[in-house]
Amino acid sequence: MPLNFEWHNGFAQLGNAFVTPLHPTPLPAPYWVGHSRAVAQQLGLPDDWHTAADALAMAVGNHVPQGAAPLASVYSGHQFGVWAGQLGDGRALMLGEVMTPETGLELQLKGAGRTPYSRGGDGRAVLRSSIREFLCSEAMHGLGIPTTRALCISGSDAPILREELETAAVVTRVAPSFIRFGHFEHFANNGLHVELKKLADYVIERYYPSCAQGLPEGHEAAAHLQGNPYAALLQSVSERTARLLAQWQAVGFCHGVMNTDNMSILGLTIDYGPFQFLDGFDPDHICNHSDHQGRYAYNRQPNIAYWNLFCLGQALLPLIGEQELALAALESYKAVFPQALMSRFGAKLGLSEVTDNDRTLIDDTLKLLAREKVDFPIFWRRLSHLVLTREPDAVRDLFIEREAFEHWLLSYSERLSQEDRGLAADLMLKTNPKFVLRNHVGELVIRAAKQKDFAPLQEVLALLENPYQEHAGFEYLASFPPAWASTIEISCSS
Ligand code: AMP
Ligand code: MG
Repeated sequence: MPLNFEWHNGFAQLGNAFVTPLHPTPLPAPYWVGHSRAVAQQLGLPDDWHTAADALAMAVGNHVPQGAAPLASVYSGHQFGVWAGQLGDGRALMLGEVMTPETGLELQLKGAGRTPYSRGGDGRAVLRSSIREFLCSEAMHGLGIPTTRALCISGSDAPILREELETAAVVTRVAPSFIRFGHFEHFANNGLHVELKKLADYVIERYYPSCAQGLPEGHEAAAHLQGNPYAALLQSVSERTARLLAQWQAVGFCHGVMNTDNMSILGLTIDYGPFQFLDGFDPDHICNHSDHQGRYAYNRQPNIAYWNLFCLGQALLPLIGEQELALAALESYKAVFPQALMSRFGAKLGLSEVTDNDRTLIDDTLKLLAREKVDFPIFWRRLSHLVLTREPDAVRDLFIEREAFEHWLLSYSERLSQEDRGLAADLMLKTNPKFVLRNHVGELVIRAAKQKDFAPLQEVLALLENPYQEHAGFEYLASFPPAWASTIEISCSS
């Protein structure tokens, strides 16, 4: 029995208003697709855990380990700006919470079959989107961006109908909690204020303990919140979300479906669907082909996050009491986000400290990139090398309009002269990744996996786990996207 966990199942103890106990629906003839050794270690599993007798059956949902109490949770949410009513775990089943020395970690099987919240869906996830979720969870972690993690991915040749026939897969997701803004909206919208309070108290007790004293996490005083625990919770979530969004923007990550049911109460990146890392820098880029209005375009993400926090604030209002306190808590987003963004982009430019005077340089850099839709990851990585070598050709070559580039380079060099170049380059090489999970890289892994060749998945995983390292021999996965990459269409269908 490899999965001899000490199960805790804190969320399940909230009771029937929150969860529906049910078992996963088995899949025929499962096989392994991939594993993350790092996540296994976090769970206290030995490296070879997946070779044990029950491991694959557990991962695909054919065997429920002893002590686990599988369940689906109910939530609601705003989708594309409109109240969508009840949603819930339509295809993700939580096995339970595993206690590790550091924290509790919930294990979820995504794609494990229908639940009472599946609505018209089949409860399944296809191999293609599961590979994208598995790899991107670990890629984000490698980049230092808060995210749900992925222990493993298993597959079955059971046919799954999307736009065409595909096959099934299950991702074993791991996070301290999968609670979303939508969980709070659900109970608030149904007028279930006792349950709403129970949920908020649980989240405070488990994840934001200082809020019980009316202190947002990381603050020693918060007179503006008048000791209100739920306003403190709202501010803590707002600040985490602000820092998360700054990290997304700085790495060129587009989430694609920032509905309130896809927003983590812990400020984690959650629910990888039609996400994309920018290739060329186009601030208006829309990665989700189903997002016709561009609601979730790259440059709108920060405002959408605030809009979503506002929904959370509204849901928490019955607990907070005073509207002014909720607004005061939300205000923190407007202070933390721009500051965090400046500091992220400052680091990308190699600045040890960012002041208001640097705002123009940062803005000008992004304008310069946007003018010619210059490749985002390649620009930053080459710039990091330029700072050390002082040889600008590799960066200059990215631009057609040389005059604009030379002009920018002059002002950048001037600012850089206030820095120690060695330290600046160090910072930049640790800030500007060489490897991000571009769509075409994911696509190469998916194509191989469809032929049952899973080696590229582990190979790409190794790059993404350490994306700031050079990884000699893998340049082709860090270079410009091939022409066919622009034909990849990513939609909500997964
Ligand atoms: P998403 O856009 O993936 O975040 O999903 C939105 C809602 O639809 C959530 O409640 C999901 O659980 C549900 N859902 C998505 N795909 C499926 C599916 N294939 N079967 C059942 N429910 C699904
Ligand atoms: Mg979702």
